[in-house]
Parts: sequence; structure tokens; C-alpha cells
Amino acid sequence: MARLISIDEARSRVLESVRPLGTEEVGLDAALGRVLAEDVTSAIPVPPFDSSAMDGYAVAAGPAAELEVVGEPRAGHPAPVAVRRGTAVRISTGAAVPDGADAVVPVERTEPIQPGNASQNGLVRVPAIAAGENVRYAGEDVRAGDVVLHTGEILGPAELGVAASVGRPTLTCARRPRVALLVTGDELTEPGEGLRPGGIYSSNRFALAAQIERAGARLVLGESVPDDATGTRAALTRALDVADVVIVSGGVSVGPHDHVKGALGELGIEERFWGVSLRPGKPVWFGVRERALVYGLPGNPVSAMVTFQLFVRSALARLQGADPSAARGEAVLDEAVPRNPRREEAVRVRLRADRDGWHATTTGEQGSHMLTSMLHADALAFVGAGGGQVAAGERVEIELL
Ligand code: AMP
Ligand code: MG
Repeated sequence: MARLISIDEARSRVLESVRPLGTEEVGLDAALGRVLAEDVTSAIPVPPFDSSAMDGYAVAAGPAAELEVVGEPRAGHPAPVAVRRGTAVRISTGAAVPDGADAVVPVERTEPIQPGNASQNGLVRVPAIAAGENVRYAGEDVRAGDVVLHTGEILGPAELGVAASVGRPTLTCARRPRVALLVTGDELTEPGEGLRPGGIYSSNRFALAAQIERAGARLVLGESVPDDATGTRAALTRALDVADVVIVSGGVSVGPHDHVKGALGELGIEERFWGVSLRPGKPVWFGVRERALVYGLPGNPVSAMVTFQLFVRSALARLQGADPSAARGEAVLDEAVPRNPRREEAVRVRLRADRDGWHATTTGEQGSHMLTSMLHADALAFVGAGGGQVAAGERVEIELL
């Protein structure tokens, strides 16, 4: 491992290696969480016509009056009649305001004088009302030609609703990155199997797969790889065949049973960095081959999750044309945290909001093998290298998880 680089330097080396992926048309039903790859312009006004905001009577604005009730449009069924002076039309919320009407009197402000029947229209008394009251005008929400959604936005429930409201059945989205995950180690055991002596359950396989999914990517290959050179090379070859991003966990150190770096070199993957001044996560490796991005993440479960958050998530975002920056801010530390003499530390913290902003407390013991330190963590808090400690009450930079 050469000189360790900073977290920021490692992040920029990752981002400058990313070439955004292509696009595809996605139905609204399948588009939740996808990244939009077009500006969506509305061809229509929304609402498409002037409609009633209330159940009541559509009238021509004017003083209090007794009006003859001449029809009843419902939502989806416009009235065939127009309103004239002296008449009103019973109307329900969302129904088109008939020609001649320019206000709606809510039903609770009216008084029936005489009910209608087959041979005679009803009569209703209405108070004075001004033009425009309780009318939703066409285009109040969206005008025809408005850009309602923008390239790079992540599609959530509101975005999907707005796309539907302007009549779009599909949206052009970035293709989801295809990710291969290889977890290495002879000790790894699948949950559900019995533990042999020296065996441990493979948590990275599941935690990293979930982080991949959360980042909007698709896990296309997941394998457990033994600690041998041939098997490692074969698995990496399979991964490079199908994936835009290959993530290997474990085996990236310099022990006699660490075969990942050797295999990466043999397969022509160009190293962009190895070793970041970070705790946990120092031995993280990153390289590229043509358009493929390849990561060697440390095997320690916390290191694997933290290095994913810091170096993989942003690349998966940028591959999809989304903003790669994480939500960052500052928090007041509510407890003292010792500094690491040489490396910046990514401390897992819980956040609570107070009058002076976020406050952070650690999730407990911070060993890189203690995966429970990730439970209930809201953010990583960054504590710079050095002597002594960051005292309670000092502010630190945080990145939301
Ligand atoms: P390595 O990076 O291969 O030296 O592994 C570092 C530590 O992480 C060792 O204690 C491994 O047993 C552990 N480890 C590696 N892979 C996994 C995994 N998939 N799940 C849980 N722990 C792992
Ligand atoms: Mg190992």
C-alpha cells in the first residue's frame, strides 16, 4: 500500500472514472426510485378544465337570489346545459363548471326552497358570491408547456403522481447499474447452514446486496469465493462479463491468502487507488477496466458498509445521472470521541434534532468488526486524525446514511 490518500481525494478519483449509462423507457408502475433521464414537459394544462372545488351550485356571480336548478354535472360527466341569469346547476367537486357559470356556492351556504321533480325544476336560495369563488381554473397546477420534472431527479411517489397527472404512461430513465458482488473467504458460511470450527456467517453478502439495491442498482451476480487464486480469477472474469460495477469484499490485504489484488492485476484492471486514510476502511481498493468500475472493499463488515457508503454509492448515483453528493451537514457531538492518531475516523452516530441543529451520539463500540455499531446509525460523523479527543459540545461534519 503506497501513501494513504484522503477520503475526498478517493471520492474524486472514483467520480472522474464514471461514464453515465444509457437510458430506457420505464412504465410508471416500475419507476419508483429510478433516475429520470429526460425533462418532462406537460402537453396539457392541469386541471385540464375549469372545475368545482366544492359540492354545491354553479352560478353566475352576483347578489343573493332564488335560482332555478337546471341540471347536475358530476365529476367525469359535464353538464349539457349552460347557466343563465336566474338559474343554477347542482355540481359536485371536480365536475366541469358549465358554460355561463363563474362561481360555485357551497351546498352548506344554500337553502332549498322547493325540491325538483319530473315535471318541475327545483328552487334554491343562494347568498351573494363573487366571480371565481370555489372554481379551480384550468392550468392552475400545471400550464401546457411547463417542465414539471427534470433530468437527474429520483422518482418518488410525488414525481410519479405528477407524471401521471400530465398523462405520461412511461418515463425515460437511466438504466440501473448492473452490479456483481463477490464475497471472499474460506470461513464464510451461509445463514441457515451449521457453523464449522473457524466459520462465520457471511454478513457482507446481505448487507452489501441491500446497499446496492438501495442505491438504485441491480445485483446481477452474487457469489461466495474461496481463498484461492484460480477461483478468485474465475469469479472476477464472470463478474466482469455481466456487470458495470464489480464489488469484491475481503481478500484485498497483503496476507498469503489474499488473492484479490493479484487477480485484479492479471485481469488488466487498472488501479486508481489502494488505501485511504480512513477508519474503518483503510485497505479499500479501486480500479477500472474500460467502462467497468471495480472495488476491493475490506472484509470487515463495518469497513465494507462504510466504504460502500463513501465510495460506491456516489458512483452508482452518477452512473444513473443523479447527483452523487451525499446529504452532508454538521452536528454537535454530545459525547467526547478520541481522535485516531493517523487516520480520519467515520464514527457511526445517532442524530437527534435540537434547537441549535443536529446532535450526535455514537452508536457504541466502534470496532470495524462490530456490525451492531451500524444498527440505528443515522449518519457517519467525521473525526479528523490527531491527538487527544473531540470534546463533547464541539461540532463535527456528518454525512447522512
Ligand atoms: P479480509 O479482508 O478478507 O482479511 O477479512 C477481514 C475480516 O472480515 C475477517 O475477520 C473476515 O472473516 C471478515 N469477513 C470477510 N468477509 C466477510 C463476510 N462476507 N461477512 C462477514 N465477515 C467477513
Ligand atoms: Mg479474507
